[in-house]
Amino acid sequence: MLDPDSTRQDDLRSGRGPWLAGPPRTTSEGLDRDIRCDVVIVGGGITGALAAEHLTARGLDVVLVDREREGFGSTAASTAMLQWEIDLPLRRLTELYGFKTAADVYRRSFKAVEGLRERIAQLALGCAFFARDTVYLAAGEVGPRELRDEWSLREKAGLPGTLLDHATLLGAFGFDRAAAIVSPGSAEADPLSLCHALLHVAAGRGARLIRDEAVAFDSTTASAAVRLSGGRTIEAGHVVLATGYVMPDCVDSDLHRVASSWAIATLPQAPQVLWPGPALVWEASEDYIYCRTTTDGRIVLGGEDEDTDDPDTRQSLGPEKTQALLGKLRALLPGAEPTLGHAWSGAFGQTVDGLPLIGRVPGRPRMLAAYGYGGNGITFSFLASRMIGALVAGEDAPWFRHFAIDRPDPAKL
Ligand SMILES: Cc1cc2nc3c(=O)[nH]c(=O)nc-3n(C[C@H](O)[C@H](O)[C@H](O)COP(=O)(O)OP(=O)(O)OC[C@H]3O[C@@H](n4cnc5c(N)ncnc54)[C@H](O)[C@@H]3O)c2cc1C
Repeated sequence: MLDPDSTRQDDLRSGRGPWLAGPPRTTSEGLDRDIRCDVVIVGGGITGALAAEHLTARGLDVVLVDREREGFGSTAASTAMLQWEIDLPLRRLTELYGFKTAADVYRRSFKAVEGLRERIAQLALGCAFFARDTVYLAAGEVGPRELRDEWSLREKAGLPGTLLDHATLLGAFGFDRAAAIVSPGSAEADPLSLCHALLHVAAGRGARLIRDEAVAFDSTTASAAVRLSGGRTIEAGHVVLATGYVMPDCVDSDLHRVASSWAIATLPQAPQVLWPGPALVWEASEDYIYCRTTTDGRIVLGGEDEDTDDPDTRQSLGPEKTQALLGKLRALLPGAEPTLGHAWSGAFGQTVDGLPLIGRVPGRPRMLAAYGYGGNGITFSFLASRMIGALVAGEDAPWFRHFAIDRPDPAKL
């Protein structure tokens, strides 16, 4: 577990990705008096930014607090494949929670990417957002038979996709694998510019962005408050925690652990090297790799996860992991030029069931949490922003329980 007091953005990622910072923000450097608002959001990464945009669109008076530069935590380390397919395949989620719940979760994830696409278009946000198909490749322990089972379950759930055999996959995409599922409905973006563009919109609607550290939280049935290290207090109708992989002690979940993940981006490739789409590509195995492209034709490839949250270990493994990823790039795309443009790594939060932690903080009536973990982090952050908008308005729904912070560990049911 990362220490919420001492962990800083530099401990969450090393190196830099190819992402661009968005428009300059309007941050007041601190408060010279106590203030009040409808909602105070703690954390200005993609999760806090999506919440700030949504809550201000609902007409709420929002204050967002970040102790460092917004967007430069895990958000800047993301490879920003905006997928509705969850880290845990539908067949495995079905084993944990039954088909009805698992299918409902998958359909909500599908709708979340759709909702994000619509919102980015409505606001005309410049963030290199493009709708993309995904190619889910057979790999390791997941062969054609397992992919067929997965595809059948998805079809039963009403989710789109086509199963390709080896020859069709090779002919259509050039990937020499036993089978794949190709699905529409996902997307890619530049996560940093998306985060900054959302904050810019929220600030334009009056959201106040404060640079300070939240050091204590209070929550009663009537109101909530955040105390800042500068000594001031923000009183609010609700507090939203969006602190990424650094969770305050009051959010206590056994479901969550933090590992490390690595990524590289090549120099721009010749267009004929890239595969059709270019789709988002990911492997079905436990020891997976995934890749996408950027607008200037780079290949971004990630994976090589390790079960450590220690920043020094992550940094020292960097050169070895970069070489391993370049090797995997050569194996997957022999025609690609394996020249390194960027190499980076980051803390990578995961849950045992692949689902996020969103909703009320147990025992703290007016505190809400928005923690969208795993390879669908940003998809789940969008979902979190809508759930939090509803909860602040006093609306609830039975399906919110799928993502509850205090849901039991399915392995112990
Ligand atoms: C290598 C890698 C690849 C990834 N690839 C993908 C991908 O392809 N698709 C995808 O959807 N997701 C991906 N993710 C996950 C995704 O990056 C995260 O889910 C997402 O960035 C989390 O955003 P966040 O806003 O919750 O956290 P952060 O971006 O870390 O923001 C949290 C903010 O909270 C602030 N903060 C923390 N504590 C306090 C405090 N006490 N007071 C004030 N401020 C505080 C921090 O300074 C920080 O700015 C990847 C992650 C990594 C590391």
